[in-house]
Amino acid sequence: MIFQPPVFFITPPLTIEDNIVTVSASIGVSFYLKEYGIDADLLLRQADQAMYEAKLRGKNQIAIFNEITTLSSHVSEIASSIKYGLKNSEFFLQYQPKVNMHTSEVIGAEALIRWNNPLQGILYPDDFLPTICNRPLILDLDLWVLNEVCTQLCKWHNDGFDSKISVNISAYTFKQPNFIALVDETLARYPHIMPHQIDIEIIESSLLHDIQEVHQIIEELHKRKITVSLDDFGTGYSTLSYLKELGVDTLKIDMSFVVDILKSSGDLSIVDASVSLAEAFKAQPLAEGVESVEHGDMLLKLGCNLAQGYVISYPMNAELFPAWSKEYKAPRSWKEF
Ligand code: C2E
Ligand code: CA
Ligand code: CA
Repeated sequence: MIFQPPVFFITPPLTIEDNIVTVSASIGVSFYLKEYGIDADLLLRQADQAMYEAKLRGKNQIAIFNEITTLSSHVSEIASSIKYGLKNSEFFLQYQPKVNMHTSEVIGAEALIRWNNPLQGILYPDDFLPTICNRPLILDLDLWVLNEVCTQLCKWHNDGFDSKISVNISAYTFKQPNFIALVDETLARYPHIMPHQIDIEIIESSLLHDIQEVHQIIEELHKRKITVSLDDFGTGYSTLSYLKELGVDTLKIDMSFVVDILKSSGDLSIVDASVSLAEAFKAQPLAEGVESVEHGDMLLKLGCNLAQGYVISYPMNAELFPAWSKEYKAPRSWKEF
């Protein structure tokens, strides 16, 4: 399969009632080779398969059929079962609290997706997200999560409970030219939700290299009072000036550094430096992967009050979160800092 970069719109962008509409074409090509003796029907089916591959790879491109198409059909199979699963309510969210360790305040929770697969049981994101992370289907999945979070916020609101929820948004989705419009569309369906109840977590990624573009999207989100967290901070390769320009609200210090702060002076220094960088970037530091009270003690000593991790709580089902929030009390030693 040979993929060309997107090359064409079949019409120039049209403006219809303030919406910009583009019509693109996904083209599949197969060749008739006399020596293979294939018939017209098979030739058409091959072209069709290549066309679906072009769609799956992001649309608006040409795919040429060859034997690689057969290999990539495995990926296509996973993609179709995810699509089917999204339609048939096989996915659900769990919520992992974020707290202020010093005050015991529950500042919100992060929504984490799970797949109740009819054949394989509960699957976690690492089992299925990598297959689709750079494909259009991740956009459907991310939007499903955003919708589901909004629905949940409404349900909680009706029960007298309000919180702030973080949604993980893939770089692919974040970069879509209509991402902000899609967020607006979603929020418009939920008039009882305050946009400040939504936080968007993004990961430094090569897809997000264009600082102007990313900064603009973050600004647009800020205009709507939606906050942005930079996930897995420290694992990307961004320069300090990039991070400074980005303007995120929270830096989530990656758990790979946090986990070893009690035994590795190198990791301790990295976390210490990350806390200072967050302050310099006018963002709040939040440590993820806090697995023991002693980890919390050390983080508080470093000036990092916000945290998430198994010692605080494992991700839980939605119905448990309100009661958990009301009852949460941080360990005594955390209150002393
Ligand atoms: P992440 O955003 O860094 O999420 C944190 C992951 O670490 C979660 O795994 C969480 O269950 C786990 N975790 C939390 N506390 C601890 C701890 O104290 N120790 C350890 N060892 N692990 C902890 P999970 O749910 O398997 O998610 C994995 C990744 O999948 C997430 O990493 C995120 O990047 C991605 N993801 C999850 N949900 C979504 C989603 O709805 N959309 C998108 N695009 N990505 C998602
Ligand atoms: Ca996250
Ligand atoms: Ca993370």
